[in-house]
Amino acid sequence: MQYHNSYAKLDPRLYNKQMPTALDNPKAGHFNPIVAAQIGWDQSSELMDNWVDILSGNKVPEDFEPLAMAYAGHQFGQWAGQLGDGRGLLMAQVIDKNSELTDLHLKGAGLTPYSRMGDGRAVLRSTIREYLCGHAMSALGVRSSSSLGFVTSQTPVRRETVETGAALMRVADTHIRLGHVEWIASFAPDLLPSFTQYMIETYYPELTTSKTPVADFIAAVVANTATMIADWQLVGFAHGVMNTDNLSITGTTLDYGPFGFLERFDPAWINNHSDYSGRYTYQNQPAIGHWNLNVWMMHFMQLSDKILFGTCKERLDRQTLATALSEYETHFMRHYQHGICRKLGLPWEGLGNLQNSQHQYQRSTESINTTLKLAFELLEIIEHNKLDYTNSFRALMAVLEPGSHSHEDQLLANISQELSAEQQTLWQTWQHKYRAHINEQIAINDHRFSATQVVEQLAQANPVYVLRNGMAQRAIEQAQAGDLSEVDRLFKLLSTPYNVNDMAKLTDYTPPAREDKPLVISCSS
Ligand code: AMP
Ligand code: MG
Ligand code: MG
Repeated sequence: MQYHNSYAKLDPRLYNKQMPTALDNPKAGHFNPIVAAQIGWDQSSELMDNWVDILSGNKVPEDFEPLAMAYAGHQFGQWAGQLGDGRGLLMAQVIDKNSELTDLHLKGAGLTPYSRMGDGRAVLRSTIREYLCGHAMSALGVRSSSSLGFVTSQTPVRRETVETGAALMRVADTHIRLGHVEWIASFAPDLLPSFTQYMIETYYPELTTSKTPVADFIAAVVANTATMIADWQLVGFAHGVMNTDNLSITGTTLDYGPFGFLERFDPAWINNHSDYSGRYTYQNQPAIGHWNLNVWMMHFMQLSDKILFGTCKERLDRQTLATALSEYETHFMRHYQHGICRKLGLPWEGLGNLQNSQHQYQRSTESINTTLKLAFELLEIIEHNKLDYTNSFRALMAVLEPGSHSHEDQLLANISQELSAEQQTLWQTWQHKYRAHINEQIAINDHRFSATQVVEQLAQANPVYVLRNGMAQRAIEQAQAGDLSEVDRLFKLLSTPYNVNDMAKLTDYTPPAREDKPLVISCSS
């Protein structure tokens, strides 16, 4: 691996350098060969021979420089002061195969000076959820942390009951959260200029030559956060704990806890049983992203007229920040609307293999608006009938090409079975309008693309498999009984979520029964 431990060179007030506290009698949980290849964790190396000892904190390779990062944050809308990192260590930073800086972060590595009342540990249950979901989201195409692997152990960890202690080697472009800036602004404000410079040089290097690097940096974080949250909405993902300490400064999904993929579509569903007011429901995520960025960016006013990059002085006032924040909605809407059109098989431009032809597929505003209207009507049908979010979109393949896709034919048949006669009529009318719209698009474009290409687009934009809570739960229960084969099966299944897979079980693509209460997820982890 090519090490580049740049965080460890920053001011020592920002972290505590320390070793992990080893877990007892660790055993292999699962190892992710995709991440290993990406970061250069050589399969035939000493690292590989010792991976269980490294992930359990029993061995620390010479080039690692473990440290606990200090950060703060707003939890459920309240300033919580210093709160992390009480159980994770940034072990090393490496340059990956794409020349990108990548963090290796061990979660559950034992006590740090920031542990407060906690024990510094993570339990097997939440470790498996985070491991599988980071992998699933990455494979779905959402910017996300992922993991090199996890280990289980004989270290007991007390939560509501005594559980198995585990540790996860998480991998992400950064572990710098909005809450890092909040910590610095409150506890070491003199470090804000150099830390801002570090964030820009490291994660937004194209902005170092700008005349207004800080304003541009803020605008970029706004854009990346909006894009990430739009992606969450499109795949039907509810994060569950969107505190400012759980959002990264690059728009990478971090900290999988009481998350959930929406199954029977209810945008107001509360997945996290500690979220009494429903602050972090699916439908609130876009607004919460905006709220978080707002409290975060205010701190940069401290930088007004400070010199950065040796030469640059910027005026950072409320107006500058308001302008940056006002772009949030534009970025969110553009990305979401484009994405939802793709989910209907009709991107705004560049359809299928027309992408490189001289007859570019370009759409008029009117035609895009028609697709959007159809999308929102479809969402209303899905919500009103509590249909499965993932399956309903995937079933569109069978709406356009009935009899050619057996899995999707079955999904479509399941939907029909669930509808009352009245809803069935609405659904049929919608399908009729949808097919007419597709045919019209093909005709307007002089048949330069076919319905088959639209179906290909549908297959690329609508997953067959997401990590349903029940799937994770079954893998957890088996792992707690010592059998990790279900974790391995789900890992493989979720590696290619857009392909129908023979290894799938009915429970991998079936929502809970209508009358069942959805699984409630504890935020203890
Ligand atoms: P979360 O709400 O899970 O993102 O956690 C917020 C902060 O609490 C994180 O920065 C963790 O470092 C810290 N924390 C969570 N669980 C523990 C624990 N068991 N021991 C110490 N610190 C913890
Ligand atoms: Mg220190
Ligand atoms: Mg967190």
